[in-house]
Amino acid sequence: MNIELTDRPRRLRRDGIRSLVSETSVTAQDLVAPVFIDATTTTRTPIESMPGHERVPIEDAVTRVEEIRETGVEAVMVFGIPAEKDERGSRAWASDGVVQQAVRRITAETDAYVITDVCLCEYTTHGHCGVVESDAATDPTLTVKNDKTLELLIKTAVSHVEAGAEMVAPSSMTDGMITAIRTALDETGHTDIPIMSYAAKYESAFYGPFRDAADGAPAFGDRRHYQMDPANSQEAKREVRLDVEAGADVLMVKPALAYLDIVNTVSSNFDRPVAAYNVSGEYAMVHAAADRGWVDLEATAVESLIAMKRAGADLIITYFAEKLANQL
Ligand SMILES: [Zn+2]
Repeated sequence: MNIELTDRPRRLRRDGIRSLVSETSVTAQDLVAPVFIDATTTTRTPIESMPGHERVPIEDAVTRVEEIRETGVEAVMVFGIPAEKDERGSRAWASDGVVQQAVRRITAETDAYVITDVCLCEYTTHGHCGVVESDAATDPTLTVKNDKTLELLIKTAVSHVEAGAEMVAPSSMTDGMITAIRTALDETGHTDIPIMSYAAKYESAFYGPFRDAADGAPAFGDRRHYQMDPANSQEAKREVRLDVEAGADVLMVKPALAYLDIVNTVSSNFDRPVAAYNVSGEYAMVHAAADRGWVDLEATAVESLIAMKRAGADLIITYFAEKLANQL
């Protein structure tokens, strides 16, 4: 039988040519490694649902970041677990708060690029990302007071930058947070500090293990009144457009794997770098399956990161950063 094929894509899949025509690559320089600094402990505490990750005391912050830098990953995102919590989350903006102390040490003693997560949920007794008033317990739709939260986010962001943070990443999905933080940073002389907005952050079941890691589960209700509905994609464009207009420098989509369409939408529609947050649940699933021998840990993780880049991500925040950096 004589079949005439006009094109044969397999010609370019042979060894030697495959890598020349490869469209996407991931390098250690694309990755940001999250670190958890814990003011409640003097020893490193493994995070059970995130194998290989630990909460580290402030004294170990520099060592922890040096371990990451040795793998070739150059940027870290710092999360804090405060020594004590209150209604308003006041330890979030304390100049001797856990993030502020850690960032001062990290920037003084390492060359890491330091990004801080700006939110209140790890610092409040109720675990919500902002100001909660007494009516919230009876009517959960009122959980977080948007405009009153802005003022606290501003204080937190400015205190992080004053401690040495090189980029701030507000994650609370408070309407107006980018405008408020940009204005406050400019007014305090920090015009050169970029903002990475958690621009399209979904109310996701994939965050479960993080809540172990950062001790930030809400004491009542959930976050669906301020985080986005997983069903929505047009709304992501609206959220992102608002943040672009407000001066966001980097646009983040969170989670990543189940939201690659959103990563692609943001990358195609906006001329700002796009970050994908490969969240704790995505990490934990791969680990759990690999532990049972059902998937290959590293191959699955690398393929996931390539998929995020292919979808349009410029940078990826991932718990796999250290583990994979050497082989990328
Ligand atoms: Zn939060």
